[in-house]
Amino acid sequence: MRVIGLTGGIASGKSTVSALFSQRGVPVIDADVIAHRLSQPPSAALDAIRAHFGPAAIDADGTLARGWMRQHVFDNAAARAQLEAIMHPRILAEIERELGELPATTPYALVAVPLLFEAPAFRARVERALVVECSETRQRQRLLARPGMTGELADAIINSQLDRSKRRELGDDIIDNDGSLDRLAEVVAQQHQRYLAWSTVAQT
Ligand code: ADP
Repeated sequence: MRVIGLTGGIASGKSTVSALFSQRGVPVIDADVIAHRLSQPPSAALDAIRAHFGPAAIDADGTLARGWMRQHVFDNAAARAQLEAIMHPRILAEIERELGELPATTPYALVAVPLLFEAPAFRARVERALVVECSETRQRQRLLARPGMTGELADAIINSQLDRSKRRELGDDIIDNDGSLDRLAEVVAQQHQRYLAWSTVAQT
C-alpha cells in the first residue's frame, strides 16, 4: 500500500478534497482527528502535557485547555517545540496503527496533515505530498465564512502559515481549488486514477 500526504493552507479545501477521495473508497487518515482524540482523557499525551506545562494546560473536565495552549505556544517557539515533541510521535504512532488496520488489498491511503511540510517526521512517512491550493482572495473569502472569523484573524492565520509558493514548490501533486465543487470532484477523480496507476506500478 502506498501512502500519500494531503496538505494545504487553512480553508483551501483539504476537508472537501478528503471527502471526495473518501467517496471513491480511498481511506483517509486525519492527523487533526487523531490529535483531537489524543487530547481527550484518559490519555498518556494529556498526562505528559500536564507534567510539562502544569495544571493550567488542562481544563476542569480533564481535556486539553486549547485556548490556553494556543496562547502559550503562539509566540513561543520553545513551548511549541515541546508540545510537538509530546504530540507528534503519538500522532505518528496512531497513523501507523490505522494504516496497519487497512486491508492488504488497499492500493493507497491518504494521510491528511495540515503541517506536513513544517513537521519533517510526517513528510518522511508519506511517499508523495498532495497540496490543495486556491487563490488568497478565495482562501480569505472561505475563511471569513466561518463563524467568529474576523478579517484580522484571517490575515494573521494566513500569514502564520507556510507561504503558498513554498507549498506549491514542495508539493509533488497540486490540486487547484478555485473552481466549482463539481470541477473539484472531476479533478479528484482524475488524480485518483493517476494514483491508482502509480500504486499498481509501484507495487509490482
Ligand atoms: P480546509 O479543510 O482546507 O480548511 P474546507 O474543505 O473546510 O477547507 O473548505 C473551506 C470551506 O470552503 C468549506 O466551507 C467548503 O465547503 C468550501 N469549499 C471548498 N472548496 C470549495 C469549492 N470548490 N467551491 C465552493 N466551496 C468550497
